[in-house]
Amino acid sequence: MKYLECAPCGQRAAWITFWVNVGGAIVKGTVGYFGNSKALVADAFHSSADAMVGLVTVISLKISGEGANKRYPYGHGKVEYIGAAGVTVALLAAVVFLVREAIYALHHGSTVTPHFATLLTVLIAIASSEMLFRLNLCTGKQLGSPVLIANAWHNRYDVYTSVVVLLGIIGAMLGFRNLDPLAAIGVGVVIIKVSYEILSEAWEGLMDKALPEEDREEIVEVVLRACAKAEIAHLRTRRVGQKNWIDLGIRLDPKTSVAQAYAARETIRNLVFLRVENVAEVQVEVFA
Ligand SMILES: [Zn+2]
Repeated sequence: MKYLECAPCGQRAAWITFWVNVGGAIVKGTVGYFGNSKALVADAFHSSADAMVGLVTVISLKISGEGANKRYPYGHGKVEYIGAAGVTVALLAAVVFLVREAIYALHHGSTVTPHFATLLTVLIAIASSEMLFRLNLCTGKQLGSPVLIANAWHNRYDVYTSVVVLLGIIGAMLGFRNLDPLAAIGVGVVIIKVSYEILSEAWEGLMDKALPEEDREEIVEVVLRACAKAEIAHLRTRRVGQKNWIDLGIRLDPKTSVAQAYAARETIRNLVFLRVENVAEVQVEVFA
């Protein structure tokens, strides 16, 4: 971190992004609706999706950070996925409705011309997304936060989406009226694709997906390094929210003393904690 003021800036960046998206959704939605631009309305849905996802992230990080308690011994990690899935399903319903309207407009030939205000709005939207990109990338790099850096690239993506809207509006104003609903469909497809990614990640998180192959290989390597004669009886891994839970069974030489077995078990446990990221707990069972 180069500058002291980066830390508070990082905390603010998530909220600034959230409020810019809320403002964007309201302004784009209103201007798009009254100014006859379906593409701008689609972009408004996109902004509200971004705002909701941002809010869910902030809230769920807070809740999942609460950790385990007596009632929820595995922590609150899954709440993120439940939140994200709920928001995404609601958004998808709205987008499908909008795309259907745009297809209807295309089919019957769009008869409306977007108002000049829609052009101004989308230009401001492009500028603010670009500013968010720079803000999140700068703070993300200074703080080494992958979440902020991912946010930044999302903002860049938003710039491209709004440029498509801009082209649709300019085209429609020049007399190619079908370009506006066409741009709306384009934005709708982007939202559907992003929703699919959010939903499949939520599904994997809720279904206790195993850790990636590299992590499992790493664990096997750790076991063999700790005691070369050990045999893996079972290895079950799962991701709960951002945390990884590992359940490992090893078979040792029957002549191993209890003290040696205990020492091997502790070494393996500590090494796994060191070598695999975000581990919540490692259960090691020893068999003879
Ligand atoms: Zn977006």
